[in-house]
Amino acid sequence: MNSPTPASGATPRRYCSQPIQRPREFDAGVSARRASAIITFGKQWVSGTDLTYYCFKPGDAVPAAWQGGAADVEAVRTAFQKWFGLGIGISFREVARPQDATVRIGFDPDDGSWSYVGRDVLGTRDPAERTMNFGWPLTTPYGRDTALHEIGHTLGLEHEHQNPFAGIVWEEDAVRRYFRGPPNNWSDAQIDHNIIDKIAANSVKGTSWDPDSVMEYEFEPGLVREPAPYFATGLKPRGGLSSFDQGWVRESYPAATESIPMLEVALSRKLALARGETRVFGFRPDRTRTYSIGTFGASDTVLVLFEVTPAGNVQIAGDDDGGEDRNALITMRLSAGRDYQVGVRLFDADLPDETSLMVW
Ligand SMILES: [Zn+2]
Repeated sequence: MNSPTPASGATPRRYCSQPIQRPREFDAGVSARRASAIITFGKQWVSGTDLTYYCFKPGDAVPAAWQGGAADVEAVRTAFQKWFGLGIGISFREVARPQDATVRIGFDPDDGSWSYVGRDVLGTRDPAERTMNFGWPLTTPYGRDTALHEIGHTLGLEHEHQNPFAGIVWEEDAVRRYFRGPPNNWSDAQIDHNIIDKIAANSVKGTSWDPDSVMEYEFEPGLVREPAPYFATGLKPRGGLSSFDQGWVRESYPAATESIPMLEVALSRKLALARGETRVFGFRPDRTRTYSIGTFGASDTVLVLFEVTPAGNVQIAGDDDGGEDRNALITMRLSAGRDYQVGVRLFDADLPDETSLMVW
């Protein structure tokens, strides 16, 4: 097939290159349905999470190349605000020190743009390590979309052009030539991981393809063989957050209802969650002592305990029982009169109606 000539004078663009992560593994006894549900929802945060972030700046004890300039740091803040402004049950808060941040952002131009996906971010706790990097200026329209895109990864989204529902057939030699060359200079493993490989159907945000997603790359003419129209025209997302991006994040992280239901000691609460759903409960202990908070019923969940502070929710404990034959359990000393929140996301349950949560 002949390649159409790319738009004259078009400079090859640099693209997000995701780090290769090892997939979650399960014991042999875990059914395919359970494993699939855990893969689908296991990277998502629970509602109530206050994601703290820090942009490395001049003066920090990290390589100078990681330190961001004021304009790029401001673009990152704006992008977080755009996602948060959708009215979701997850918030973002810039903190003054990297050791207080869950998301730590570098600006190394030699390291491309990337971010860990969802709760994989928690795998990197060293305050001198990054969970996200920006490899080019964020002050252009493309840069502003890059900031939204990397935060999309942090929220749990994968690349949309790897969505198996897209039906994309690559002009593979042309794709490899394009991405092996400057300015991307990717290895074949990077090209496979970020473009050619399809994502498991259960890891994408829906059951169809969203070519306007902020998680979709722009492709020059000659790289996408099918769907056919994109061969000649190339693929160009509209830019910004698509309506599907917005719908996904609202559905994945529903905003807290006005009154959060309160947990009482020794009184179990029906979770009444469908697979993938998340919910937040409040708890204010009468006495200072060690409490246990756990789920009941054959279920795979992630359970997170927050202390409510004037600055926001601080995660103080968490437990993920996905794929294990036990229930999520948090045991922790809590103080009388303080406010806590318990967030839970159900991945899978034999009988979702018969799972519950209790503090004792
Ligand atoms: Zn990406």
